[in-house]
Amino acid sequence: MFNLQNILRKNIKELVPYSSARDEFKGEASVFLDANENAYGSPLSESYNRYPDPLQFKVKKRLSEIKGVPPQNIFLGNGSDEAIDILFRAFCNPGSDNVITVPPTYGMYEVSANINDVEVRKIKLTADYQLNMEAISEAVDEHTKIIFICSPNNPTGNSINRDDIETILANFNGLVVIDEAYINYSRQKTFIQELTEYSNLVVLQTLSKAWGLAGLRVGMAFASEEIIEVFNKVKPPYNINEASQELALEALQNVEQVNSWIKETVAEREKLKAELSILPSVLTIYPSDANFILVKTINPKEIYQFMVNKGIIVRDRSKVELCEGCLRITIGTPKENKLLIEAFKNFEELNKI
Ligand SMILES: *Cc1c(COP(=O)(O)O)cnc(C)c1O
Repeated sequence: MFNLQNILRKNIKELVPYSSARDEFKGEASVFLDANENAYGSPLSESYNRYPDPLQFKVKKRLSEIKGVPPQNIFLGNGSDEAIDILFRAFCNPGSDNVITVPPTYGMYEVSANINDVEVRKIKLTADYQLNMEAISEAVDEHTKIIFICSPNNPTGNSINRDDIETILANFNGLVVIDEAYINYSRQKTFIQELTEYSNLVVLQTLSKAWGLAGLRVGMAFASEEIIEVFNKVKPPYNINEASQELALEALQNVEQVNSWIKETVAEREKLKAELSILPSVLTIYPSDANFILVKTINPKEIYQFMVNKGIIVRDRSKVELCEGCLRITIGTPKENKLLIEAFKNFEELNKI
């Protein structure tokens, strides 16, 4: 049976969290002399001389409406990367605990593990980029605290079988983190609705991709109230600044604009796939549920450099295990995608392919 108290680090269980001025007095008042702010104002606009809401209530309320999840089940981080780091700091004892990742996948899980001196047990995906269930089950021991699953996966683009994820959720006594950074582009449905079913589930999403706000640094974690309380205890008091909170709230009114971008991106993805697939330098295009495609090419290094010289930057993933020969290409605007295809054709002409 999963019990959060059993996997929480002792120092975190016993931690007395920092109590800010905004924690100690939350009501309405006309004179605030409790936080050593500049009472005269700020060189910008009125609100920036005050500390921001530590728990970002307005943003969470709006997200709650959009996602159908109560605000108490939402954590906001300075990017999802902050949520990943907090998971390590709250649950993994440096030098003794371990986590499982399933490469090729997002690099931050391993970097964050290394920063926190936590062992990473890497269980390669199968040749069709799915979970190796038997190997995962063998790798788990009593020190395994977290399994990270990215779906749709970066850099492969595919979604991970839902039944496999549910099997892990039902049988693993640690946290299962499902990183849904690309969920808006996917035919699969989110795991957010399963929060009531699985108390060990943490779903990560972000405003950095479909929402078009990578520069704002706002990531989300959805989990049980008990897990969110741990996040809030460990996080820096004012981790989302006032400007980001205001702009996020404003952006979250524009669901329709975002939905229309998602539709257009998916349509462009399919068009780009069709156009690339007939090129002789392109060997394989992997199925994608994301806003990028993984493309196996002949001589990826040369194609990469050729593109750079033309001012087009794609991601060279050709040295990554299971992605040999591959470039990861983000779906651009119709104009950008056209330039990419032209560059491919140009490369083929010059090299007589
Ligand atoms: C881009 C990306 C993120 C987003 O990280 P932020 O810190 O929120 O910008 C998270 N996970 C994966 C797999 C990603 O590719």
